[in-house]
Amino acid sequence: MTTKAIRGTQDILPGQVEIWQRVEESARRTFALYGFQEMRTPIFEHTAVFLKTTGESTDIVQKQMYRFTDMGGNDLTLRPEGTPPVIRAYLEHQLGQGRSIERYYYIGPMFRYERPQQGRYRQFHQIGVEVLGTESAHLDAEVIEMVMRWLRDLGVRDLRLLINTVADEPSRVAYRKALVRAQAGHLDELCSDCHRRHRENPLRVFDCKVDTCQPVIAQLPSIHDYLSDTSASHFERLREVLGSWGMDYEIDPRMVRGLDYYRETVFEITSGALGAQDSLVGGGRYDGLVAQMGGREVPGVGFAAGIERIVLAMGGQPEATAADVFVVAFDDSTVSAVHTIVHQLRAAGVRALCAAYDGRSKKAQGSAARRSRAPWQLVVGPDEVQSDRYTLRRLADDRRLECSGEALVSTALSLANEPAANPTGSESRNDG
Ligand code: AMP
Repeated sequence: MTTKAIRGTQDILPGQVEIWQRVEESARRTFALYGFQEMRTPIFEHTAVFLKTTGESTDIVQKQMYRFTDMGGNDLTLRPEGTPPVIRAYLEHQLGQGRSIERYYYIGPMFRYERPQQGRYRQFHQIGVEVLGTESAHLDAEVIEMVMRWLRDLGVRDLRLLINTVADEPSRVAYRKALVRAQAGHLDELCSDCHRRHRENPLRVFDCKVDTCQPVIAQLPSIHDYLSDTSASHFERLREVLGSWGMDYEIDPRMVRGLDYYRETVFEITSGALGAQDSLVGGGRYDGLVAQMGGREVPGVGFAAGIERIVLAMGGQPEATAADVFVVAFDDSTVSAVHTIVHQLRAAGVRALCAAYDGRSKKAQGSAARRSRAPWQLVVGPDEVQSDRYTLRRLADDRRLECSGEALVSTALSLANEPAANPTGSESRNDG
């Protein structure tokens, strides 16, 4: 039997998963402030949903799709990214009526056949948003401001915001000609993938990571010399709004992002806390995509953030605890009292655990208590039951609190709500 997970996939175990939950809850909370609602689409779609949208010349479609034929002969693909499925659903359910502006977010796994390394996986998870129905550069700025705020709230360090434009169609026609000309003179210095990109979509040469191609790429013309008035003013407006909100950003004139549907604004957020795979968020505007998928001309803008990389960039987080209070039976005579106390604590909203099952010794229960990382312990012996006096003990510093049976639940509840007692576990309760 195979006992290992597939290369490039990971199990997210208790201890880690609480950090993931924190990232997700914080996204839900922040995005709700800006009027976003969640959309959940299937993790696989007809392959056609991605071919023309993500783009046939992109690395994703060329090399990275988990594409298969099912028993019914359907050509299907595990979603490599979230935008085309959201638009497919938007069209299928006729969600955009009149001039409405729709705001969605999604959270879930994506699949790309990549070379796995730290921060790069074959199954990874994205939190993304899409805004459909306006071409205003103000919205580009809004989603950028929202994602920066979310990452800062999470405590992600060393954030850097890079913006650029990939312009509108007329600018791109002119720019493409200039690129083809510039690349043609250096084909012998470019890799075979770049030759293909040069033929199919010369803009994609900027996606190349091969070292020997970089000197040529650095010499290619800049799109900023080919901007139409519309594209120049869209970019200018974005900069104005970001500037008026006091947001720091850098312009990276060579950033094109690896997806074909981007128009006008593109952006990326990186973190210095990461290694080589330092991109946390990628996004941009995709006017034209909805029409290309068979809908009306509905402009859109969005981004996708990688959860694995956000968790990495957040650095060491306190290990989560499985309980606030661990209740230990001193001997067999107090097992049922322990179960009653645990039951009452849970009913009052205290995360309570015990291991008084199958005749486990006090010592075995004590090691289960340590493994649970519960900050407080309550040992129930015949004396406690007899006198109806109980002592809650904090393991970290041996702080002790004695109370009557009647006050036990309320005492434990107030301890569980002390932030210092349980940094990860109690956060959601305090903030929620
Ligand atoms: P993209 O969808 O390629 O624009 O990527 C958006 C974000 O998703 C990136 O900035 C990463 O945080 C994350 N991401 C993309 N591909 C991977 C991958 N193979 N493994 C982990 N995270 C990824």
